[in-house]
Amino acid sequence: MTETAVDTANAAAAPTSIPHWIAGRRQEGSNRTAPVFNPALGTAVSEVALASADEVGEAIATAKAAFPAWRDLSIAKRQSIMFRFRELIVSRKDELAQIITREHGKVHSDALGEIARAIEVVELATAFPLLTKGEYSENASTGVDVYSLRQPLGVVGIISPFNFPAMVPLWFAPIALASGNCVVLKPSEKDPSASVWIAELYQEAGLPDGVLTVVHGDKEAVDTLLTHPDVEAVSFVGSTPIAQYVYETGSKHGKRVQALGGAKNHMLVLPDADLDVTADAAVNAGFGSAGERCMAISVVVAVDTIADELAAKIAEKMGAIRTGDGTRDNDMGPLITGAHRDKVAGYIQTAADDGATLLVDGRDPEVDGDPNGFWIKPTLIDKVPTDSAAYKEEIFGPVLSIVRVASYEEGLELINSNPYGNGTAIFTNDGGAARRFQNEVQVGMVGINVPIPVPVGYHSFGGWKQSIFGQGKAYGKHAYDFYTREKVVTSRWLDPSHGGLNLGFPSN
Ligand code: NAD
Repeated sequence: MTETAVDTANAAAAPTSIPHWIAGRRQEGSNRTAPVFNPALGTAVSEVALASADEVGEAIATAKAAFPAWRDLSIAKRQSIMFRFRELIVSRKDELAQIITREHGKVHSDALGEIARAIEVVELATAFPLLTKGEYSENASTGVDVYSLRQPLGVVGIISPFNFPAMVPLWFAPIALASGNCVVLKPSEKDPSASVWIAELYQEAGLPDGVLTVVHGDKEAVDTLLTHPDVEAVSFVGSTPIAQYVYETGSKHGKRVQALGGAKNHMLVLPDADLDVTADAAVNAGFGSAGERCMAISVVVAVDTIADELAAKIAEKMGAIRTGDGTRDNDMGPLITGAHRDKVAGYIQTAADDGATLLVDGRDPEVDGDPNGFWIKPTLIDKVPTDSAAYKEEIFGPVLSIVRVASYEEGLELINSNPYGNGTAIFTNDGGAARRFQNEVQVGMVGINVPIPVPVGYHSFGGWKQSIFGQGKAYGKHAYDFYTREKVVTSRWLDPSHGGLNLGFPSN
């Protein structure tokens, strides 16, 4: 079946049309639409509206209109909405996981894992009174007090990728909302239903209409958010070329922009590591969510002396991975689209053509699922040349490459010369080597015997180099800084001694 046909039989289980969420209600679009697939079936199960510039403009206007009342709502009332949302999402997470599996393809347990990480940020948002309060200095000069306030920005845009349809919107929205902003969320058009479900749940939690808006769309919608004068800030997550474009365009239009991009995450394995545990970690981090995670391990950097043994252990453990429909008892689901599946298959061929050794070739149609699904099984490629596109580019699929190095220093140099700097890990039992790695590696998130070092909600998430543009990471304290503006007030209560002529610059 082609990628544009709508399968009416399967559409019965899903909404046939996925609407926007504007001013607290579902609104059909009046512009173009795009098909939304169930990747495990390979068929389109619904259609999503793609907003025009005018429709996005109207959505921004409703958000702007909702802002003054939301900003001024008491901290106590805002906080109770944040708590209520947390209770609702915890009790209904299974429902959300099913939506994620149907449109993204990841297996149900993995969808629940994504929601668990999102809930960390929802919980952090309940602590906003502590994290947005200002400071006060009494008697900075005699009778003069100086204090700071943290105020919301206004309307902020969130633009999210397909690979975490619930977690990435919830990396940003809870903190932006708790800090008093109104949010216009533009989720990925490939799996947009989770965002509408989240917005409806926020309404049930008591969020006033217009405070959280969801507009679906593609470049036209994104460009409107980036250029519209009533949008104060934009949080973006996606591929590096689009992240750079978003950063440059939004900044040129005077917005505060944080744009998180793609990745190529290396796992350095030293000879003293426990190779069984390390092989398990490489398999889990390489193939979870079919490798469609920005923190997936895509390159195992093995020191020569243990490389053969490690490769054999990884290959053996991969044999236990059940690939198939995420609604069944499988470990790994399909890729997001047929086009992406073909692109990933192309990288496997490129690696082979460039002289790498295909230890496990996942271009094999035997899976526990519909033959039309967008399948690639786990793939292991050894001795990948570092000048091959299969090494240099982000594959974003279930493909683990092994690159062999002579020493720790050569491995470190390889990682540091990579243009991406999202995540990395070292596997070793040598504390001194691990400490040296933590100090020397040029990457934003580092795991020591932890293959996917996604920071917990009260720290912040963000890479270095081509994996991020702009200042300000996702969640943690950084997020409160990003979504608020500091104002500093200098105050005194007048008495007659303050009179008289004095043109000098005020000093204390
Ligand atoms: P993508 O860049 O194709 O799309 C991301 C968003 O940008 C979507 O909402 C999409 O509609 C929009 N978009 C796409 N093309 C656009 C264009 N030409 N102009 C304006 N907007 C456009 O990314 P994706 O395929 O949805 O997601 C996968 C990518 O996201 C991978 O590169 C992955 O590494 C990255 N990612 C990074 C992180 C991180 O935290 N660094 C997290 C998750 C995903």
